[in-house]
Amino acid sequence: MSLVISKFGGTSVKNFKSMQNCVNLVMRNQARKVVVTSAPSGITNNLVALGDGGLTHQQRIEIFQQIEQQLHDILNMLVDTNGLISDRLSIMLNDMRELASDPELNICPEKQDWLLSYGERFASLLLTQCFIEKGVNAVEFDIREILLTDENHGSATPNTAALGLLAKDLLKPKLENKLVITQGFLGKTESGKTTTLGRGGSDYTAALLSEALDAEKCEIWTDVAGVYSTDPRIVSEAFPLPELSYDEAAEMANFGAKVLHPATLAPTLRAGIPVFVGSTKEPEKGGTTIVQDCEQEPHYRAITRRREQKLVTLQTPKLLRTNQFIGKVFSVLDKFGLSVDLITTSETSISLTLNAGDQTNLASASKGALSELSQMCDVEITSGLDLITIVGNKLHQNNGVTSKIFALLEDVSLRMISYGANPHNISFLLDASDSESTIKKLHSGLF
Ligand code: ADP
Ligand code: ASP
Ligand code: MG
Repeated sequence: MSLVISKFGGTSVKNFKSMQNCVNLVMRNQARKVVVTSAPSGITNNLVALGDGGLTHQQRIEIFQQIEQQLHDILNMLVDTNGLISDRLSIMLNDMRELASDPELNICPEKQDWLLSYGERFASLLLTQCFIEKGVNAVEFDIREILLTDENHGSATPNTAALGLLAKDLLKPKLENKLVITQGFLGKTESGKTTTLGRGGSDYTAALLSEALDAEKCEIWTDVAGVYSTDPRIVSEAFPLPELSYDEAAEMANFGAKVLHPATLAPTLRAGIPVFVGSTKEPEKGGTTIVQDCEQEPHYRAITRRREQKLVTLQTPKLLRTNQFIGKVFSVLDKFGLSVDLITTSETSISLTLNAGDQTNLASASKGALSELSQMCDVEITSGLDLITIVGNKLHQNNGVTSKIFALLEDVSLRMISYGANPHNISFLLDASDSESTIKKLHSGLF
């Protein structure tokens, strides 16, 4: 059975018209048998704001109204003959309001995940009905039946072995005669509590399902016609890349290309499944295919940006030698699931920038790690920085690379540079106010 998993992002399901684009696109290829949906765009942000608890009563009412309006606008376009979808939606909206008014919500990650899950569950309810009303034998499937995770709410780690077994038992049989619509981003602990995989995690769900069901392709349908040479919202001359290697795509995702969640490439690489990225609105424009080996491996492939970076400078305590101190620092970071992106050391201090693995919440992990480090030494934090990365191939082996890049960066003041540790990237830390102009300069100079 040939099988393609198709994931639709938030903008692809944001209203009735965009849902119709998804339906038409899926119907064009019989192999598309599993649809993974994100929440309609805007809804997860709204639910996060409700969960944080920092809103006034009036602001909360406005958010409820916004969510209800967006969903009712879709519902009103459906035939929904016996009113079942309307009934289910009202029940869900009432439950969501009740949960969002829970006074413990802002201190309870478990309840926050439960609240966030409404976004994807609203989408799967309405999108399934769109398919059914077009005559497709579609069925909604609760991904939490098969995607078990640990208890790390907010960035849970999936149990891939269990998913492999459960997907074959509970999901695969349905694919013989049905189109399955399921939720991205969500999981469930062994004890039945809803979890989420981290913001943007629906891409990861699609990749995990592709691996579990041995799909021939994993499609990520979004609002751009593929992965571009840089974010097309920053550089209008950015161009789509027809082909990318898993390594290049993983570097891009890891260093901030939002079009793919950083964890997406791991399962598809393990299973050797190509990933396609394309535009739901303009599928005819083609897109990017991500495979193991590309025909061309250019030195410079793309430029990415990761925003809101913090530079942490730690003063070496007088009684410790630098290398002893580095050991201690790394063990604290490891304890909190943090890794280091950039690092420089001197006799008296270490400067570094932090990154969280896919399964770690950067903000809370950094807070914990920095408070523990401040018991060992003086800690200074500089904010307002961006990390720009040039992604490519064999960058460390090419003599002309540094001179070309540094010539382009002549009048930019760089706070830190990372080069040589990996053949696929060169990264710079710089003031956020310089980052857009620097990306434009690098893009026109390198491409
Ligand atoms: P979705 O909701 O479909 O998951 P996202 O907003 O998560 O969509 O990702 C798509 C966005 O990623 C694009 O609108 C674009 O602004 C951004 N983006 C950042 N870097 C790139 C890049 N190199 N190529 C394409 N898009 C990029
Ligand atoms: N809806 C979730 C988010 O906005 C997951 C996703 O879109 O992939 O982060
Ligand atoms: Mg996304």
